[in-house]
Amino acid sequence: MNLLIMGPPGAGKGTQAEVLVKELKITHISTGDMFRNAIKEGTEMGKKAKEYMDAGQLVPDEVVIGMVKDRLAKPDCQNGFLLDGFPRTVEQAKALDETLASLNIKLDGVINIVVPLDKLMVRLTGRRVCKECGASYHVVFNPPKVEGKCNSCGGELYQRSDDNEESVSTRLKAYEEKTQPLIDYYQAKGLLLNINGDQEISKVLADILAAVKK
Ligand code: ADP
Ligand code: AMP
Repeated sequence: MNLLIMGPPGAGKGTQAEVLVKELKITHISTGDMFRNAIKEGTEMGKKAKEYMDAGQLVPDEVVIGMVKDRLAKPDCQNGFLLDGFPRTVEQAKALDETLASLNIKLDGVINIVVPLDKLMVRLTGRRVCKECGASYHVVFNPPKVEGKCNSCGGELYQRSDDNEESVSTRLKAYEEKTQPLIDYYQAKGLLLNINGDQEISKVLADILAAVKK
């Protein structure tokens, strides 16, 4: 199954993706995680991306598109994938269509997690992420079993440098201006699966699984 998961920053894409890819036995491709790994490794691309990310701005299309094209051509994507955080602009969506067509791959659905925008600041400023595996927690809504430690791998939890009020405000504006138009783009293609993300994490997961298995 070849899927996209979209929604504003903090909608719960990463939280749901972690479980979904295990359930559906598909590969998780998060462009945000790919950039954070590049930053950790100190690559040139990582250095360039960090400036945009810390400011809450989108990394330029040509950088992201090239990175995703290379990733989708890897063998582990052939049995299905879940793209998380890409595309974020109409330009990226068009490039994705072309890439998938050239690889003879068809999208099966676009999961759109819907959450009122005024709930996202609290979700994002309270988010904690595992340094090792990238799993997402929340100090109040989804705390780890042991404080500061990841439930699945025991890794140390940290706060992302872009999860501060200023950067979150910029990211939410970028979402409204550049990413929201993709809802109509995928609706017109008959691929959109709207999911209420303003409910318990387990209920959101159940709704997504029901929608993709239809
Ligand atoms: P995204 O990948 O869409 O940016 P995350 O999955 O990292 O978002 O979730 C953002 C924050 O909101 C995290 O702290 C996460 O624990 C929390 N969260 C995710 N889903 C829910 C939910 N259904 N209800 C409350 N908090 C949630
Ligand atoms: P995320 O982990 O999805 O919240 O992404 C974190 C940051 O990485 C974003 O605020 C952007 O700066 C950058 N980023 C991730 N994916 C993309 C993308 N598809 N297009 C542009 N920038 C991206």
